[in-house]
Amino acid sequence: MTGGAVTGGQARDGGVVRLRVDGTPVEVAEGASVLDATRAAGADVPTLCFDDRLAPSGACRVCLVRTDRGVVAACTAPAEEGVEVRTDDHEVAATVRRVVELMVERIPERALELPTELTALCARLGLERADFDLAGRGLGRDDSHPYVRLDADLCIACGRCVRMCDEVQGTFALTMAGRGADTVVAAGAGGPWVESACVSCGGCVDSCPSGALSGPAAVLTSHSRTADPVTRTTCGYCGVGCTLDVHTRDDSILAVTPALDGPVNRGHACVKGRFAYGFVRSPDRLTTPLVRRNGRLEHATWDEALAVVGRELTRIRDRHGPDAIAAISSARSTNEENYLLQKLMRTAIGTNNVDNCSRICHAPSAAGLIASFGLAGGTNPAEDLDAADCILVAGANVTEAHPVIGARIVQAALHGARLVVIDPRRTELARLADVHLRGRPGSNVAVFNGLAGLLFDRGLVDEEFLATRAAGAEELRKLLADYPPDRVAELSGVSPDALAAAAEAYGTARRPAIVYGLGVTEHLHGTDGVRTLANLAILRGAVGTPHGGGVNPLRGQNNVQGASDMGALPDVLPGYQRVDDPRVRERFATAWGTPVPERPGLRIPEMFDAALAGQVRAMYVFGEDILATDPDSGHVRAALEACDFVVSQEIFLSATAQAADVVLPGSSFLEKDGTFVNFDRRFQRVRRALDPPGQAYTDFDVLCAVGGALGVDLGCPDPAAALAECAELTPVFAGVSHERLDREGALHWPCRGLDDPGEARLYGTAFATSDGRAHLAARPWLPPGEPPDADFPYALITGRRLVHYNSGTMTRRTPNLALAPGEHLDLHPEDADRLGVGDGDPVEVSSRRGTVTAPARVTDEVAVGEVFLTFAFPEVPANLLTSDEVDEATSCPEYKLTAVRLRRA
Ligand code: SF4
Repeated sequence: MTGGAVTGGQARDGGVVRLRVDGTPVEVAEGASVLDATRAAGADVPTLCFDDRLAPSGACRVCLVRTDRGVVAACTAPAEEGVEVRTDDHEVAATVRRVVELMVERIPERALELPTELTALCARLGLERADFDLAGRGLGRDDSHPYVRLDADLCIACGRCVRMCDEVQGTFALTMAGRGADTVVAAGAGGPWVESACVSCGGCVDSCPSGALSGPAAVLTSHSRTADPVTRTTCGYCGVGCTLDVHTRDDSILAVTPALDGPVNRGHACVKGRFAYGFVRSPDRLTTPLVRRNGRLEHATWDEALAVVGRELTRIRDRHGPDAIAAISSARSTNEENYLLQKLMRTAIGTNNVDNCSRICHAPSAAGLIASFGLAGGTNPAEDLDAADCILVAGANVTEAHPVIGARIVQAALHGARLVVIDPRRTELARLADVHLRGRPGSNVAVFNGLAGLLFDRGLVDEEFLATRAAGAEELRKLLADYPPDRVAELSGVSPDALAAAAEAYGTARRPAIVYGLGVTEHLHGTDGVRTLANLAILRGAVGTPHGGGVNPLRGQNNVQGASDMGALPDVLPGYQRVDDPRVRERFATAWGTPVPERPGLRIPEMFDAALAGQVRAMYVFGEDILATDPDSGHVRAALEACDFVVSQEIFLSATAQAADVVLPGSSFLEKDGTFVNFDRRFQRVRRALDPPGQAYTDFDVLCAVGGALGVDLGCPDPAAALAECAELTPVFAGVSHERLDREGALHWPCRGLDDPGEARLYGTAFATSDGRAHLAARPWLPPGEPPDADFPYALITGRRLVHYNSGTMTRRTPNLALAPGEHLDLHPEDADRLGVGDGDPVEVSSRRGTVTAPARVTDEVAVGEVFLTFAFPEVPANLLTSDEVDEATSCPEYKLTAVRLRRA
């Protein structure tokens, strides 16, 4: 055997196949192809229709090789025991050349000017301009889409684009149209691309070998090899954590391509990560500090701005005490920057008043998962979704908010996994699901308890697991007597039959997985939601075992997991080490050279209340537009106005920045070094592809400078040093470092030492609770904080759409705006009839706190009596409406249910 390891295909029972390639003996795994074998032998067999991300199709015949059993397409022919393969057969080579000649003689010679796989193959085969069609077929172009450009004459009809759309993305938006030599890709029925069902993931562009499909600025794909610099980094949008390659020239971005070996995305991305980078060079970027003078924000030098920050924070600390200052850290920024900000607050200021936006999204996940299992993260890696035979998706519109994981779930379902969706909205996954439990907002705990009751009733619980690895079964069983299906139906609107079908699907699966989102956490009883959802996995023994896909929260912002992991929380230091534990404080105090304050600090909603009460006098808001994203924004504005001093560290002059006294220009994820932690606890590197614009600095440098302005050296000269210091102080991150991540790519925490590979799957031997067991929670359903009533009869749900991210500050400054130029109110056709509105008609939405107006979008994606809005557009400030009701355990707001009334505007 050459090359050592068995390669290619899926080894079944460790089976290997032995064959020879050009006389060289190789071993490949059973199920591997001849192409795998040639690669294992180091032979370079050309391909065109082949892509590692796709099932081989054998369409282009470019990978023909001779075997002692005939000439075969290497990509589709199975590697068979004892076969002799020749990749250097002259007759076959001549045939391949003729195949490519026939291909190129119908496409124009300008194809040769592009850095494509086809061009590279032509160079290899010695094909030249004269071999191409000089005129082209006149099939035209489609430039209707802001990101996907079609030059139809360049299409070689290999079908890779169509297969990417089907087999990776799962949207089925593309087809091959036309006949014979005029066969070309088309979107939908062949109308303008932008009007098709295309979700702009760029998979087709990234796989196209000929340049027929290209991105907006360049014909560059994951396979391209050019002289321009390529920086490997991690996406700064959602919490999936896609690995991206940023191609740059002259300090601007040529293209972003998904890394084929990205551990989570495996060569895929979405419209945001793949294309929405234009914001980075927006003329709106903040390039100098701003200081409020005479009521106006004016340009200032860094020295001036830092002097004001240092003077004012020192004054307020000295006059009112350190707890009069509070900071909100940034879930978009790196771990190292979050580490630095919490250190700054605890050392330079002397308060634990530091929190991050996990407070308003996944704090119930941390609390619930710690209580159920012991650690504050999801239990299993993303790849376990591929092995799941049932995926239960609760409160998550995954294909829009976490598109790469959404696509993976779609593929799992298309390949036979059963899909159960629990969501008030008919999301894309709900339409695909075997069972959709469409409960009313605020009914999760009733539905989860109903499912748990059915698992017991139908003998679908894992008794051995409960006896040996779990606690609380008897108490839960007693509580569940109150949740028979007919009562669950009353509480939630979910029919007993649907509930039974869901229990059967999840309860009979051999490898069930749960993923969930903010539709579980952002409720008055969000922590109860997480715990009662976790109950299902415990009852099935589907967590901490080889046959379980566990319980996995889909994190919203790119680094919301990391911001919390780094201790940007009021009650814990990095690694969730409690600040009220004297031994923990002592360790940090020794390392930091200053005492660590003992009293836990304020949570974000408490900071606002304290500001209004005059207890908090200064706020430092880092990388969050709290006036757009936090609930009851009138209350937030009043809190900021009540402060003596507000600092905003931002990349744009957001609503929050406009309300600040000093604005410090920061940097985007494309301009900085560090790490993020994604939704499955994976540390991944973030690398600087561009310099920050103008006089802006990286946020790391800004925070160091603010420390200096307060007279404190934060002691970490660069991000690598900050992570090293954090790892030194935090046992669960002890084995993580930039150097190791650069070498190994990604590391899951816990990672307790330099020889620890990290734990992708948690709790294989014991749970991290005090008794080593998973804890079932007997939690009753309790009514939501603000249910619809006679005055406000509709339930408003807020969330995300595919194209825009969070408050939209980044995506609205990209061509994504052409794909979704504004916000609209989703409402059901029956409600639209009742109100007398049609698509596009303005609807006034009022809650007890405010009124916004949005054009209607009439759709059955929402149920009767329910409406949906995002907060991505300042013209429709949805958080003027949302309430100050918060989860009792964690203070996470009840974003997913606000009572509103509607009228035609
Ligand atoms: Fe970025 Fe999330 Fe899209 Fe991946 S799925 S490219 S992490 S926004």
